[in-house]
Amino acid sequence: MNALRRLFSFNGGVKPETHKHASTREPIVPLADLPLPPVFVVPLHQSVGGMPTPLVSAGDRVLKGQRIGGADGNFSSAVHAPTSGLVRAVEPRTMAHTSGLTLLSVVIEPDGRDEWMPTPPLDWRAMEPDAVRSWLRDAGVVGLGGAVFPSHMKLRAGRATPLRTLVINGAECEPFITCDDLLMRERAAAILGGIAIMRELLGAAEVLIGVEDNKPEAIASLRAACAARGDATIQTVAVPTRYPAGGAKQLIRVLTGIEVPHGRRSTDYGVQCFNVGTAHAIQQAIELGRPLISRIVTVAGNVASPRNYEVLFGTPMDFLVRQAGLLEGTTGFIMGGPMMGYRMPALDVPVIKATNCIIASSPALFAPPPPEMPCIRCGECARACPTDLQPFEMYWHARARNFGKVQEYNLFDCIECGCCSFVCPSHIPLVDYYRFAKTEIWDRERKKESADEARVRFEARNERIEREKREKSEKLAARTSAARAQASVADAADAPAAPGPDRQALVAAALARAQAAPTAPGEARATPAAAPPEETATPPGPTAPADKNALIEAAIARAKARKEAAGDAPAAPAATARKERSPEEKQALIDAAIARAREKKQAADSPDKEAP
Ligand code: SF4
Ligand code: SF4
Repeated sequence: MNALRRLFSFNGGVKPETHKHASTREPIVPLADLPLPPVFVVPLHQSVGGMPTPLVSAGDRVLKGQRIGGADGNFSSAVHAPTSGLVRAVEPRTMAHTSGLTLLSVVIEPDGRDEWMPTPPLDWRAMEPDAVRSWLRDAGVVGLGGAVFPSHMKLRAGRATPLRTLVINGAECEPFITCDDLLMRERAAAILGGIAIMRELLGAAEVLIGVEDNKPEAIASLRAACAARGDATIQTVAVPTRYPAGGAKQLIRVLTGIEVPHGRRSTDYGVQCFNVGTAHAIQQAIELGRPLISRIVTVAGNVASPRNYEVLFGTPMDFLVRQAGLLEGTTGFIMGGPMMGYRMPALDVPVIKATNCIIASSPALFAPPPPEMPCIRCGECARACPTDLQPFEMYWHARARNFGKVQEYNLFDCIECGCCSFVCPSHIPLVDYYRFAKTEIWDRERKKESADEARVRFEARNERIEREKREKSEKLAARTSAARAQASVADAADAPAAPGPDRQALVAAALARAQAAPTAPGEARATPAAAPPEETATPPGPTAPADKNALIEAAIARAKARKEAAGDAPAAPAATARKERSPEEKQALIDAAIARAREKKQAADSPDKEAP
């Protein structure tokens, strides 16, 4: 098959010792042969994209394959229970990353029954492509080559540029890692089933499966499966073994000759790339209805029996590695290979979707690196770089924390393959500097985004305060002008102008109220009905003399009536007697009063009066 196909080469690369033989002597240990750990810790965030929402709480019983984390929007991927059991907690746990940070995780205690949810397959040929993609999102299918990018998102490729070629990555170039090799050897038919689905969704004209030529069993198995399907448009291509041939851009270059430039994507050139493990997961999710709850993991390094296991996500790494016979002297675990892998912060961190290999490290296996020496600008790192970067320049600027400059040297095109560090005669851990620079840049971006969000919120608050002030002053102005208008009306009413009909009506109403109001208990004013009509209609002003007399007479009459009602009758005869005395009687009374006064004075002047 290769004889018909021209292959290309990529720049740089290295040829490290592969260490693959030890873990490929035995077949994959199937799920059924691996005991359940006492507890599973399933991190909710296991893919690129949004953090899934927890769907369970402590105390819930879950079934195997049950969704425990729902995708957060489309750029996210669901997470499922690896077995049936009881949810003990939903809490932050140490994540499988060198940072040692924690991540919200679902802690499940298995009940030992390993009871599946119903898993109906999907009749994908009868469904709309978008429905198939949604199914894959909810099945938690992500790229299993290490990037864990949600697969349903990549299966949208080809809309802008028609997709011509689907590349399936079976190169697996990193030392120690053999999980894809064993998968291709043992499950080639299922891989081809997944490829058929992907190809249909993408509308790709051809499919190229690239496998390094140090995996002859895998190549033979795939070719046999292709022949069995009778599909000549799927080609299994053996590519030269050279690290990092498994990089997506490098494999595309080797298979198609297309050089994807810095800052561009392969889909811009009509090519999309998936890992063989992803193809297998897609087939399982659609044809068997099984969500992604496990993967093949290579266990290698300081263990008695290096091997590949099918492992449920959430299994503690130390539990898994003990199945392979953990040896004395193990100092830690590396997730991934020695070139691109990360040292784990603890032994009990869980296996996740990105875990393709666990290497038990020991000083005998990985000797401490020699001390770092100054860069001698030999250029070896640039010659080894498969992405045509200038590693020593990036190193200088990253070291000086000049992150803007590092980006000018296309830091984010660095695939962290480690070729530059591998060849550096000064033993400079160059990749560590690039990872540091990337982390710092991401951190600054996050902070900048937060600051931008805060600024937008601050400006919105200021605008709101200004708006409220404006509305308040407008209301005040409206109230003031209304008050002024009322005052003008009142002034007009008080003015001695000729009374208008409204004013007369107001006055009449006021008079009516005054007359109706009682002046004393039991006494009422004259009712308007009792008053002469012209009196109520008369405006206030100087009262006419005739009316005045009439009012005085009426008041005197009312006073007399009150006196009579109060029983003041005896006063009347006295007053009458005073009026009826004759002048002689009056003189007699005066004389009598003078005589009484003289007697009183004499009595007051007597000596007895002065004695104490
Ligand atoms: S290989 Fe090492 S010493 Fe040589 S230029 Fe690169 S960083 Fe400097
Ligand atoms: S780690 Fe980055 S800079 Fe170094 S060789 Fe690989 S791609 Fe180039």
